[in-house]
Amino acid sequence: MNLLDVRKLQVHFPVTRGWRRHRDFVRAVNDVSFSLNPGETVGLVGESGCGKTTLGRAVIRLVDPTSGQVLFRGQDITALKSSALRAHRRKFQIIFQDPFSSLDPRMTVENSVGKAMDIHRLVPTSAARRQRVADLLQQVGLDPDHARRYPHEFSGGQRQRIGIARALAVEPELIVCDEPVSALDVSVQAQIINLLRDLQRDRAIAYLFVAHDLAVVRHISRRVLVMYLGQIVESGSAQEICGSPQHPYTQALISAVPVVDPASKRKRIILPGDPPSPIHPPTGCHFHTRCPMAVADCRDKAPSLREINPGHWVSCHLAKSASESGNGRLKAALGKSNLEHPSK
Ligand code: SF4
Repeated sequence: MNLLDVRKLQVHFPVTRGWRRHRDFVRAVNDVSFSLNPGETVGLVGESGCGKTTLGRAVIRLVDPTSGQVLFRGQDITALKSSALRAHRRKFQIIFQDPFSSLDPRMTVENSVGKAMDIHRLVPTSAARRQRVADLLQQVGLDPDHARRYPHEFSGGQRQRIGIARALAVEPELIVCDEPVSALDVSVQAQIINLLRDLQRDRAIAYLFVAHDLAVVRHISRRVLVMYLGQIVESGSAQEICGSPQHPYTQALISAVPVVDPASKRKRIILPGDPPSPIHPPTGCHFHTRCPMAVADCRDKAPSLREINPGHWVSCHLAKSASESGNGRLKAALGKSNLEHPSK
């Protein structure tokens, strides 16, 4: 059984505008489905504002979905009332992006890490709690003697380690890592990623790893979901997504990843403009206003997510499996520079 099954999830936020209080909706997450196995890491990438953070929070009910299902070990947690949900909370945790604001500055490390243990009544005595916090700090690479210190006494990387210890305190089966390294220096990023990998190996925790940086996601994930304007536009193994991206948006993201070897230098694909508003997404393919390969059909017809190779799904009219003769269309479109762009 999958640990997590997300089915046709939608998260729409109401917004009111103007003196007539006209009601609209920000379509942050639209018809998203995916699954996650125990002990697996799935990366979720996309530009800022594409809905990936909202999706990550919706799968652990920090945000209430508008429709769809989130099955955790077969149980739909979107249907749970708050008291029943509380009993499930310890199975899924989150590590936040900002290690500076995610810790209460008035609480010692011991209390920050131990609070969830108290809520879920996991330790019988204060001595046991103290010992458990010390063990956790040691496991995340911090000095247990620093448990009585306050967050301002730590560096950014150390604070993120405290955030990880806090998430581990209740022995979760799933952790949503919401851009956990994007606020850190590059050298510290690698340390935190390696720590997360080591902890996963020892404890078989599943991660939904949310990031805008494909280079980071590729390093830690077995599978990758690429999100654009609230929808998954491509998904597959990290190897296939990074080695043979089929969606033009994924290709643009890959082209922005720095390469170490100058011999394998690739051309950067610069997408025109900003992502459109999720209140009024474009017709047809939502990406057509920025897609360098768009054809006339793209403006009117929304592509569906299709499996072009085993486990590799793409939402693009031009993407075909290797066995389909039309595969040449994608390559042809890549080579053409005089296609009339439908947004013109
Ligand atoms: Fe580009 Fe058209 Fe494919 Fe959308 S369907 S990604 S606009 S080529």
